[in-house]
Amino acid sequence: MHSNSPGTLALLIALILAITAVVANILIGYFLPNDSIVNIVLLFILALIGSFFVVNYFISRYLTEKINLIYKSIHKSKEERDSNKVINTGDDVFSIVNKEVEEWIEENEKQREQLQLREAFRREFIGNVSHELKTPIFNIQGYILTLLEGGLEDENINRKFLLRAEKSVNRMIDLVKDLDTITQLESGQLNLEKSRVNLADLVKEVIESIEEIAKEHQIKVALTKDYDPQLYVDCDKNRIYQVLLNLIINSVKYGKEGGKTEINFHVMDKNVLVEISDNGPGIESKHLPRLFERFYRIEESRSRNEGGSGLGLAIVKHIIEAHGQTINVRSTVGVGSTFSFTLRKA
Ligand code: ADP
Repeated sequence: MHSNSPGTLALLIALILAITAVVANILIGYFLPNDSIVNIVLLFILALIGSFFVVNYFISRYLTEKINLIYKSIHKSKEERDSNKVINTGDDVFSIVNKEVEEWIEENEKQREQLQLREAFRREFIGNVSHELKTPIFNIQGYILTLLEGGLEDENINRKFLLRAEKSVNRMIDLVKDLDTITQLESGQLNLEKSRVNLADLVKEVIESIEEIAKEHQIKVALTKDYDPQLYVDCDKNRIYQVLLNLIINSVKYGKEGGKTEINFHVMDKNVLVEISDNGPGIESKHLPRLFERFYRIEESRSRNEGGSGLGLAIVKHIIEAHGQTINVRSTVGVGSTFSFTLRKA
């Protein structure tokens, strides 16, 4: 029999009971040698009290030792593991332990599912990143090889191929920058530097910065005529600049030649609704629920031609949500799209 087994405990208890009975019998025989009924009653009481305390002590010690071993295995924090739980033999000890172990199993199961989800997410993310990097890298390799194999001396192509290689390098840089931003946003490292920002001025700044691209696509980008020049919002200026930039550039990249993009503000109770509307080709409703997912593109070739990483709208959504606000899109094929988000009025 193992020294820690319940059998050893039973033997110990039996021994204690026998000793208690003998000691009680000797004591009673010594003090009350004659009265037999009283002797029996006293023997019973003494044996009961004596054995109760002794047995209770040993059972409690035994259970405390065993159950603390279980607690040490299931508790996560060192503090919890180090603290010895005192077992009260008056409680329904096994039901309590059973409940705690079941909770622990449930918690573990949840963690396992989360880890599996994260693992799948990580795999998908890495797959997407390598897929995105493949095209520009292979393009650069192709241009360099052509140049090395004689193209360098060919006046007709040497400069053209170098410019194309540069374009692919720029695309990789943009992708890496977007990846960096999204990693920061998703790991919760985003510290917003909020201030009171003039919304119209910020939009104008963005419009100015994309003037060239808009001209290239022959798209007119402007604020609505009746905008409020004194509208202030409480936001991180640089981040909201990026939101506006991504949305306005998208309206130009995916808009129709000769079209227009209009930026509107609607003052609501505590918030301002900012709308970026274009009269481009629009987006089919089946795409709308997934539009803000990272790497989601509608028309692969077109988006790729425009140098998009498919991360722009995911970044936009993260930034707006970090501000505690929301972003939406509505679109009608052949009519155009409107992206709208809210900001806190300052
Ligand atoms: P990308 O980097 O490819 O532009 P985004 O996340 O910014 O990625 O956009 C996702 C997809 O949504 C784009 O590939 C494009 O097909 C579609 N899209 C975004 N904005 C518009 C718009 N204003 N009009 C039509 N399609 C749009």
